Amino acid sequence: MKRTKGIHHITSIVGNVQENVDFYSKVLGLRLVKITVNFDDPQTYHLYFGDKDATPGAVITFFPYEDAREGKIGNGQVGITSYLIPKGAAKFWEDRLNKFGVKYNKVKRFGEEFIQFQDPHGLQLELVERDGGNKNTWTVDDINPDVAIKGFAGAVLYSHFPESTAEVLEKLLGFERLGEEGDFIRFKSSADIGNIIDLKTTSMGRAITSLGTVHHIAWRADVEEDLLEWRSLVKENKFAVSDVRDRKYFKSIYFREKGGILFEIATDIPGFAVDEDKDFLGQKLMLPPQYEHMRPHLEETLTPIKLD
Ligand code: ZN
Repeated sequence: MKRTKGIHHITSIVGNVQENVDFYSKVLGLRLVKITVNFDDPQTYHLYFGDKDATPGAVITFFPYEDAREGKIGNGQVGITSYLIPKGAAKFWEDRLNKFGVKYNKVKRFGEEFIQFQDPHGLQLELVERDGGNKNTWTVDDINPDVAIKGFAGAVLYSHFPESTAEVLEKLLGFERLGEEGDFIRFKSSADIGNIIDLKTTSMGRAITSLGTVHHIAWRADVEEDLLEWRSLVKENKFAVSDVRDRKYFKSIYFREKGGILFEIATDIPGFAVDEDKDFLGQKLMLPPQYEHMRPHLEETLTPIKLD
């Protein structure tokens, strides 16, 4: 049976691009690893943030739409994006969130304590201390590798039909079902980050996919051959699946599972250093060949981003 290693990236819809950059790079200390455009809507930015090496399982991406209408987090979405921090780092992060005036609360699931808060556009985030993953050596401010976010801990999924979503996670994507507690079923994949999925078994109400909500979650494939095997498997399971799309930094396929969540499966390669030196990622607008002719127009119309 095929098993995904876990989360490849998570993509969300946000508002003002500068607020997005400032929050994820300055408050959370992630590295802006790519400034490009939405390949399906090139008038809009697509920003990628990760650890220093832009590791699969650590990459969060955003479509900033300045005038998007307010979204609502609910069924058929990733409800909460979970970040992994080293053991002993929780106090540092509570102090840091306080310093930036970010309100948080603490909840427990499966014996772990989660620090939950929202980004400036209403996305629900959480931090959890857990072993696993390499230290993130991207240092910002007083965030050092002993406390820096390593990547995703996982995600909390809200589904219209939790039983169907559970079946896709376990039977199609190859997650191991670890157990149930309260309103959650916990699943685990083989990677050591981005590997724990908590599926909520009770309804979170109707969602509006817009500002402040997750657009899709991508699972890891190795190389293109592996992606094609995944595509056949998704088809065999009677899901309508997209053709293979070339996203430059990975190749991917998309399908919507029955619980309403848009799933992508994306290759680990070639990664974000394919068009920029790895030491200078995310400092200028990178365009795929098909949009290079639009550069003068885009550089004039896209909101300039202040990087420091
Ligand atoms: Zn994606």
